[in-house]
Amino acid sequence: MRSITILGATGSIGTSTLDLIERNPDAYRVEALTANCDFAKLAAAAIRTHAKLAVVADEACLADLRAALAGTGIEAAGGEEAIIEAAARPVDWTMGAIVGCAGLKPTMAAIEAGGTIVLANKEPLVAAGDVILAAAKASGATLLPADSEHNAIFQCFDFARPERVRRIILTASGGPFRDRPIEAMRNVTREQAVAHPNWSMGAKISINSATMMNKGLELIEAARLFPVRHDQIEIVVHRQSIIHSMVDYVDGSILAQLGPSDMRTPIAHTLAWPDRMETPMQPLDLVAIGRLDFEAPDAARFPALRLAKEALDAGGASPAVLNAANEIAVAAFLAGKIGFLDIVLTVEQALDRYNGPPAPSTIDEVLMVDDMARQLARATTERKAA
Ligand code: NDP
Repeated sequence: MRSITILGATGSIGTSTLDLIERNPDAYRVEALTANCDFAKLAAAAIRTHAKLAVVADEACLADLRAALAGTGIEAAGGEEAIIEAAARPVDWTMGAIVGCAGLKPTMAAIEAGGTIVLANKEPLVAAGDVILAAAKASGATLLPADSEHNAIFQCFDFARPERVRRIILTASGGPFRDRPIEAMRNVTREQAVAHPNWSMGAKISINSATMMNKGLELIEAARLFPVRHDQIEIVVHRQSIIHSMVDYVDGSILAQLGPSDMRTPIAHTLAWPDRMETPMQPLDLVAIGRLDFEAPDAARFPALRLAKEALDAGGASPAVLNAANEIAVAAFLAGKIGFLDIVLTVEQALDRYNGPPAPSTIDEVLMVDDMARQLARATTERKAA
């Protein structure tokens, strides 16, 4: 039996992970499940899976969690430190599925404890890539990517011969506004922006997909995870989201991973790796799919792609600034305070105005950069909201 912890168990990725685990109750023992405040969903999952510990990050929700778990024998805890302690408990496999940079310290705690850490939560890798990779090297932890694109590349990449890789081709669905002129994006609503054409996901990543900042973050994520130069990573729009990414080799062969638009497939890959496990997904009906289309991304309509590429090339604090400013801008858009096009403008202004530590080399320094970038982005969103 493998011991498992899910950080962010109540979210979209957490729910998909639980679904796979609950279909195989004899294979897994759940150590800890965490959430921000959704105590009802967290308690129900903890009870169903006989978890040892359930933790909410928001301490104001702990009393409700305790009440929901009364008499079950499941330990309850609350607060940021309690999340970090849960992540630090040694287990065989941890799913990192907290949203945003809030996952940075818990991810680091899990990595320092060793075992296999599955990264769905891409923002820590974007903001603190070098620190995270160094920590994994030091502890001997295995990092596996759950993001469907990076999981696809992981499955296709010949790590023994990275010099034989010509390109990584990251596919992008293009999001809900892939055909909209930029002027028509100005007044889109929250509901229109979260309605992804292919995937069902949490609100923040859905907005990131609509601005294509998600692909920008994934470009940086790919550069962190795979031993290639930045100019070897290409983004191609592939509307059907059937090919999840590709690796192009020097002999002209391109290896692709195909699968349904359901995160349970990449998560199952990381759960069973290096083996394979069954999932409830139906086999792909390629005849019904009929065609696979590819097109170049439109950098003029989706400036987030350029900003992410520039941040990756600049290195140092830039990716952390990009990510933090984007988190603030997306939250402001979701709260109805700024318009859709203001999201990426806010990120660009934060990158232009950032004047803090240029090259953070510890988690505390990354968090200092993160905090400064948030303040810059807040200044912009508050001005726009006024
Ligand atoms: P959701 O918003 O659906 O879930 C987020 C989870 O994190 C919830 O459990 C939430 O708890 C918890 N959480 C939120 N804020 C905090 C906090 N401050 N401290 C601790 N826990 C917190 O997100 P997704 O599942 O969509 O995404 C999770 C991560 O995976 C993101 O980084 C995303 O980019 C990445 N990802 C997601 C994909 C998807 O298909 N959804 C695909 C690829 C990557 P609560 O429910 O209580 O708010």
